[in-house]
Order: sequence, then C-alpha cells, then structure tokens
Amino acid sequence: KSLQIALDGPAGAGKSTIAKSLAKQLGYVYIDTGAIYRAVTYRALNEGIALEDGPALAQMIENMSLRLVPSEEGQRVFDGEEEVTSVIRSSEVTNNVSFVARQPEVRDALMDLQRDLAKEGGVVMDGRDIGTHVLPNADLKVFMTASVEERARRRHEENVSKGIPSDYEQLIEEIALRDKRDSEREVAPLRQAEDAHFLDTTTLSIDGVVQAIERLIEE
Ligand code: C5P
Repeated sequence: KSLQIALDGPAGAGKSTIAKSLAKQLGYVYIDTGAIYRAVTYRALNEGIALEDGPALAQMIENMSLRLVPSEEGQRVFDGEEEVTSVIRSSEVTNNVSFVARQPEVRDALMDLQRDLAKEGGVVMDGRDIGTHVLPNADLKVFMTASVEERARRRHEENVSKGIPSDYEQLIEEIALRDKRDSEREVAPLRQAEDAHFLDTTTLSIDGVVQAIERLIEE
C-alpha cells in the first residue's frame, strides 16, 4: 500500500529530519511543503513585491514554475531553471515567510501543486496544514512538537555543525515569533487535526520518533 502520511507541527520540531528518515525506511517520497512557501518568499523579496499583497503574490506564483525534486539529501527545489534549495534557508526568508504564508491568495495558489505531489500516495508530507487542509483524508496524520527551548537547541546545534553563525537566545525568539504568526493567521493556521496523533519529541531521539510513527502505521 502506498500511504499518504501528513506530518505537521511548529517550526524546528524535527519534522523534516523525521519525515526524511521515515520516507527512506518506507521507500516513500519526502515532500517538504515549507520549501514552497520559502521559494515564493524568496522570489517576492527579489522582485520587491509587497509581502502583504496577496493578489500580486498570486500573480507572481502563476508565472513561477516551482518544482520539488526528491534527492539523496531529501528534496531539491527549483524555480524554473534556477535551483533555490539553499538560498531559501536564509534568515531573511525564514523571518519573512509567515507574512507570505498568511495571504489566502497565496495558499489557494499553492494548494493544487501540493495535492498533485501527493496524489499517487507513497509520500511523507511535512508542513503546517497538511492534515487539516492539504490532505484531509491522509492515511496517517501526526502532529509533532517539542518545547521551544529544545527546538531552538536542536536548530542551534545544527547551525554550529554546519558552521552557520548562530545565537541560541535569538533562535528561541525567532521560533516563538514564527509559531505565533503561523498559529494566529486566519487561513489554515497551524493546528493539530482532530484525527492526528500527537507526538511530543522533547525527550525522544530521532530513531525513537521514527519507530513511534512506524508503530502507528502498523496499527
Ligand atoms: O517548514 P518550514 O519552517 O520551512 O516552513 C516555513 C514557513 O512556511 C512556515 O513558518 C509557515 O509560515 C509556512 N508554511 C505554511 N504551511 C505549510 C508549510 C509551511 O504556512 N504547509
């Protein structure tokens, strides 16, 4: 069986690490939907489009050719011929993406792309509204979280290991602010779906979380 697995939760909860590992174990495709909102934000910043102008952003999206390509590291992201996999991780994009993601026109414009990527099944899709909006009939829904301190600590360690400048206190603030914006927006806010399994990963290892989800699949 080729299931659709929806993995939602706040920033830095380890969704992408878990989703990648789970997809590998199952022979599924990993789809990181946050990258789509990031690619749109990156382009809007480059083109000087106001991040609160939903209609202008939707128009811009129509002229984009966004592609998510599964790869050894997880997923590569292309806007037409341009690979944007790395540039969409900048702090400028990270700190602005919630403004773009809260525009209803933007979310509408990106819905079909996401559903299309999942339609054959055999996917682990990570995001904020996958279980609630994008794949309401997903075979398994997991809502993953961890304390904000733990999420900041993990992100900080990841940055340090990659040689990226990093400030733990600042990360706590940025993560908390992004969660607040993503939870308080009117359209498709960050929420646990009613039929989602709740998983607090604060004290769990990566393998522990992957195993917990594999047990849910077998149930
Ligand atoms: O997952 P990631 O941190 O890369 O997501 C970046 C941003 O994209 C989130 O903070 C949120 O504003 C937006 N997003 C969303 N819906 C999704 C995935 C991401 O609104 N399904």
